[in-house]
Amino acid sequence: MADPTGFLTTPRRTAARRPVDVRIRDFREVYLPMDGPETERQAGRCMDCGIAFCHGGCPLGNLIPEWNDLVWRQDWQEAADRLHATNNFPEFTGRLCPAPCESACVLGISGEPVAIKQVEAEIADRAWQEGWVRPQPPPARARAAGRRVAVIGSGPAGLAAAQQLTRAGHAVTVFEQAGRPGGLLRYGIPEFKLEKWRLDRRLAQLREEGTAFECGVRAGADVTAAELTGQFDALILACGARVPRSLAVPGAGLAGIHQAMEYLTAANLATAGGGRPAEPAISARGRHVVIIGGGDTGADCLGTAHRQGAASVTQLEILPRPPERRPPGQPWPVYPVIYRVSAAHEEGGDRVYAVSTEEFVGDDAGRVRALRLVEVEPSGGRFTAKPGTERELRCDLVLLAMGFTGAEEDDLLAGLGLGLDERGRVPRDGGYATRAPGVFVAGDMGRGQSLIVWAVAEGRSAAAAADRYLAGLTSLPTVIPPGAAPFGLPR
Ligand SMILES: Cc1cc2nc3c(=O)[nH]c(=O)nc-3n(C[C@H](O)[C@H](O)[C@H](O)COP(=O)(O)OP(=O)(O)OC[C@H]3O[C@@H](n4cnc5c(N)ncnc54)[C@H](O)[C@@H]3O)c2cc1C
Ligand code: SF4
Repeated sequence: MADPTGFLTTPRRTAARRPVDVRIRDFREVYLPMDGPETERQAGRCMDCGIAFCHGGCPLGNLIPEWNDLVWRQDWQEAADRLHATNNFPEFTGRLCPAPCESACVLGISGEPVAIKQVEAEIADRAWQEGWVRPQPPPARARAAGRRVAVIGSGPAGLAAAQQLTRAGHAVTVFEQAGRPGGLLRYGIPEFKLEKWRLDRRLAQLREEGTAFECGVRAGADVTAAELTGQFDALILACGARVPRSLAVPGAGLAGIHQAMEYLTAANLATAGGGRPAEPAISARGRHVVIIGGGDTGADCLGTAHRQGAASVTQLEILPRPPERRPPGQPWPVYPVIYRVSAAHEEGGDRVYAVSTEEFVGDDAGRVRALRLVEVEPSGGRFTAKPGTERELRCDLVLLAMGFTGAEEDDLLAGLGLGLDERGRVPRDGGYATRAPGVFVAGDMGRGQSLIVWAVAEGRSAAAAADRYLAGLTSLPTVIPPGAAPFGLPR
């Protein structure tokens, strides 16, 4: 066990955020590193529970009490080994995961949970700084027995699957339609949450291990399904769930109304390279911005709009404001829906709850100048407008961040003889296999729009399934069955 009295004597601390007035002038990460001794004290708060609920709350089954103990004992290298034993990309999850492990931490029943995510990020960063993260190419014997595998899509699910299969000895090619690999890690999530050099550093490791990347290649079009199944012994589909939900109200076609991903992709392309950002194709500079959708994608738009110099930003949400504390129906250890203030919210803007957009209003040039909204209340699974609460809200840039309806039904799926279920997912069996022989599906494409930690867990598990299909047996871990959702964690 780490420090036997740490949970009694050490208060919880997480990383400091850079001051708001400094950080909104650039796109660099918001959080500052925590120093080593403080991280060791934070790890020392862990009680090494007999039944470690944190471990069960983590989709990857991260060995949290083990690496807390090792960090407290200052054995950071062993901690890094234990962390990488279950997680291919801890520098991403340590920054981006909503940390269901912390919601499930036993210490959280009566006080503040262990700062697990912080300890994870610090171990991952220390491992890179010290040169402990090295390429792990497969031994020649494994390579000789390997087969050819195509991974379609280079988000966290595809990258995790590719790394696992390459290390198992297979010749893996990742096909990516975008110009560079990374999926939503590169084109969705803003730099101020994850600087892209971290992604490039990890991709260099994958390449050195032997994973090949073909970017700017759309599977199903530039390379057909028949060519893929002819040239490869197995396929892993990891194309994400990227069809956005639209808003069918009058005026929805006006100029100045964009899907959040159009906006975030343009912003990420403008900041790519780490220098002074170029002017993005869609900019919030000087604009009155309204974001429709109160979730994390909306918060990413909010932080981006402030950094681009928006005149004002308002985020609208149809649901009522959630409670500040766990409601009785969501007790420990479930991941609760509560009112959260992300770094982007701390930077400004208004959040308006329980409203619905009824219409967009345009100017003479056909550009949005306002939207009409009405207050709503939930009733019988629907939302009812409250009469007399209609009002107009000025805006000249509207960003739609209302979630995603599922995967794209495209030529790739058609060519493989596959379709989507009623929730826009590619159906698979309990072993990640689709009904097309040798074709597996992982990540958002199989589960619906979700989280990075699930994508990595699914990528690892689908790799094990494909390895078993190709070799008859596997030593790769199956982390979770498809669709698993421990402790009510959002999928
Ligand atoms: C704006 C935004 C912010 C988010 N922030 C967070 C966060 O902070 N924390 C968190 O845990 N989760 C976050 N998420 C969710 C998380 O990013 C996703 O759950 C995760 O990226 C899913 O991984 P994936 O590999 O399944 O798919 P994706 O990351 O979507 O990657 C799919 C890839 O497949 C490629 N592709 C698709 N079709 C083809 C084809 N036919 N041929 C070739 N390539 C193809 C796409 O171009 C893409 O690169 C966020 C999501 C969004 C939209
Ligand atoms: S539940 Fe919390 S206190 Fe218990 S082992 Fe996990 S991190 Fe440590």
